[in-house]
Amino acid sequence: MSDVYEALQKIVGKDYVSNQAEERYFYGRDPGLMPPHEPDFVVMPKTTEEVQEIVKLANREKVPIVPKGAGLALTGLVIPQRGGIVLDMKRMDRILEVNEKAGYVVVEAGTTHGVLKSYLQKHYPHLRHSIPDSPPIATIVANAVIHGQGRLTQQRGFNSDMVSGLEVVLPTGELCRIGSCSVSSYWFSKGPPLPDLSGLFLGWFGSTGVITKLGMKLYPCKKIRDVMLFLTDKVDLVPEVIRKLAHTEMVEDIVVTAQPIPLRFKGNFYILLYITGDSEEEIEFKKKMAWDALMEYVESRDGGFVSVTPDMKPPFLAMPSKDTARFADVSKGGGFEYSGPIAPIDKYPLYLKKLEELAAKYKLFYSSAARVIDGGHSMMFSFSYTFNRANPDEMKRAKTALDEAAEFALEEGGVIWKPNINEQQMIMERMDPNTLKLMTSIKHLLDPKGIMNPGNWEAK
Ligand SMILES: Cc1cc2nc3c(=O)[nH]c(=O)nc-3n(C[C@H](O)[C@H](O)[C@H](O)COP(=O)(O)OP(=O)(O)OC[C@H]3O[C@@H](n4cnc5c(N)ncnc54)[C@H](O)[C@@H]3O)c2cc1C
Repeated sequence: MSDVYEALQKIVGKDYVSNQAEERYFYGRDPGLMPPHEPDFVVMPKTTEEVQEIVKLANREKVPIVPKGAGLALTGLVIPQRGGIVLDMKRMDRILEVNEKAGYVVVEAGTTHGVLKSYLQKHYPHLRHSIPDSPPIATIVANAVIHGQGRLTQQRGFNSDMVSGLEVVLPTGELCRIGSCSVSSYWFSKGPPLPDLSGLFLGWFGSTGVITKLGMKLYPCKKIRDVMLFLTDKVDLVPEVIRKLAHTEMVEDIVVTAQPIPLRFKGNFYILLYITGDSEEEIEFKKKMAWDALMEYVESRDGGFVSVTPDMKPPFLAMPSKDTARFADVSKGGGFEYSGPIAPIDKYPLYLKKLEELAAKYKLFYSSAARVIDGGHSMMFSFSYTFNRANPDEMKRAKTALDEAAEFALEEGGVIWKPNINEQQMIMERMDPNTLKLMTSIKHLLDPKGIMNPGNWEAK
């Protein structure tokens, strides 16, 4: 191991590799509920060539490698289950190209959503990307790797659907380009008209290679962005309301929130709909379409639009929104974690009932923010519970509730999003055996020595 340490120092320089207890402690855990496990080394490469050298070394010495962005996935995906190297991508943070006319950006793997947002606002204010509600230090690459969702997801699909090309270091150290950039200098497509090989890397949690560059599609950034709030206390109506709103094709993003505190929230479902336009006229037209689509519920008194005054708007319009984490008692060492199955929107009432049932059973505080995906083809439903790290019993209860939620979500036809290693096993147990065989063969083909983020997508 001391040889590996020296070799790593030669590759990245001694300031950017550590085997010190403090770093190993920090990089051995994430803010969620999965048990920690320390790496042997933390390494921060600056270039693709350095990543290649590190991967070749790890492959030769059979040392595990775990690529890491901001470590905010919350489900232990960057916890090095078998030690080895945590590859912190933070220093690879350049925005390499914005192709204004073709509408894409090419970034290095450590580039964060916050940095790209600021960069576009400053240099290309007419363009935007799909921003998730994770803290701004979340990386664009890792968010795509876990099939994240953001502000454009209701119209354009998962953030990973908006990827327009990849550069990847394979587990054996070769560098590979995926998509149009493999035959052209343009990064406009991650697959079509070629076979779409991006699926060999997106969704695999770094277990098939290290992404070093990524192309991401950019979309028009309209001059005005506004928010409407529809409120109903009839949970069974929520899927129908979403369908009607999605049908208008006027809404940028639809998020449904439910939580018991403050008390006026309890039993009510807040459906936030975001509208964008280049003029007040466009905004008013789109608002009217949304209003008309839901008028029957206003007339039947099953729901209504809540007036959102100008001083109420900034927190709703903030990107990222802080609402997801606001309910966690972070100041007292607490946290929150959510299991977020992706499921048909019709499952909303059933999942909501389960969320509340588990909160009551395990005496937990809960909230849920569900985001509509791709015009209502599915939604991400979050079973979200808070915990306080100073209270091990509460952490255990939160973990048990999330395990049960994941089991329930799967039984009811959903698929767990960013599953932790135990949830990955639950998924693989249910998977069509030939699909699992295919996944296992692909993984083995790419990573014959099993060094990449071991434990993830590993069939027992
Ligand atoms: C308050 C809060 C709100 C959130 N809201 C949202 C939301 O609205 N939408 C959403 O999608 N998510 C959300 N999340 C979840 C998560 O924070 C984001 O998805 C985030 O983008 C993950 O990025 P990261 O850099 O933290 O990833 P990490 O946790 O560092 O990594 C995630 C996975 O990607 C792999 N990986 C990292 N870099 C590479 C690489 N270069 N090559 C290959 N694999 C790699 C890692 O090994 C790991 O398996 C939220 C989280 C919090 C805490």
